[in-house]
Amino acid sequence: MQDLSELGQLLATPKKIIITTHQKPDADALGSSLAWCRYLMKKGHTATVITPTDYPQFLEWMQGNDDVIVFSDKTESECQELMKSADVICCLDFNALARIGELGDLVKASAAKKVLIDHHLAPENFADLVFSDTKAAATAVLIYDLIVGLGDKAFLDIYIAECIYAGIMTDTGSFRYPSADRRVHLIVADLMLFNLDNARIHRLIFDTSTEERLRFLGYALSERLYVLNEYYTAFFTISAKDLERFHSQTGDTEGLVNYALSMEGIVLAILLIEREDGVKLSFRSKGEFSVSEFARRHFNGGGHRNAGGGTSDVGFSETVKKLMDILPTYKEQLLENYRKEKFVC
Ligand code: 5GP
Ligand code: MN
Repeated sequence: MQDLSELGQLLATPKKIIITTHQKPDADALGSSLAWCRYLMKKGHTATVITPTDYPQFLEWMQGNDDVIVFSDKTESECQELMKSADVICCLDFNALARIGELGDLVKASAAKKVLIDHHLAPENFADLVFSDTKAAATAVLIYDLIVGLGDKAFLDIYIAECIYAGIMTDTGSFRYPSADRRVHLIVADLMLFNLDNARIHRLIFDTSTEERLRFLGYALSERLYVLNEYYTAFFTISAKDLERFHSQTGDTEGLVNYALSMEGIVLAILLIEREDGVKLSFRSKGEFSVSEFARRHFNGGGHRNAGGGTSDVGFSETVKKLMDILPTYKEQLLENYRKEKFVC
């Protein structure tokens, strides 16, 4: 990680700071942003979180949520003003300006110092200060490390702890991925000092589904899941009509792709969703198969080795067809990964 002294100097006097994160923020994106925002405000800065889009309702319990500005037609001029007058823009949990849509143009145009805090592979070179650790379990881990590294551990409080915890919990799949190592658990143990109620946070995020979301899950599993055993791959196709039928809300499809990966013998899971602005793809893998590379090469995307995403603008059925055309070229690689996962020689 980059030397902290420059960041320390930058934050030594009160500044106007904007914090932004990726489209459709998840718990790590929003939790890191709100934790960092609260820390900066306690330090004497003026800090505002701007998200490029809305986010799931199950994240709205986070302290500071009410002051988040969601970029939209209505808030565009306000965001423009804030970006223009900002001294510092912190970009959290994303690695390329394209990941924040139109907000990226405002960031680019702003004269503010840009600070990138992220854990995705292959960060783009757009920031003045870069805190990128692709091995970090979550951006929230980096937020914890930065606060502590800057000598400000005393600023941690229950609200910051809850936001950091939510980011770590979700990005580690509730502490089940290899990224949830000893250090991650030690950080969480440290956060527990604030009487953090881990079960409550888990409930708020995972046990707040609507009946319709659950029905949608059932429908997706029974009608929209395709299993390609020969490619050790399973994928969901969710059309705009499906989303409409179940009155899908932001966040309703989150986690769906993991069901495909939970099957024995599957090393690659894909979720294709027909959105208004194109097809959104989510990828998950087991073992060494890099979905980040797969997404970057074929679907204008990226992410991490075992969790990635991308987009396609050739239409829904064409995208499915494209995927079908690509998969055979990965047959050997997928087989090899399956064998490694199963310890089969
Ligand atoms: P999800 O499937 O949960 O949307 O995303 C999984 C991971 O892939 C996340 O780390 C996310 O930041 C990354 N990701 C998702 N969509 C895209 C995309 O369109 N482009 C890139 N570069 N990364 C993405
Ligand atoms: Mn993250």
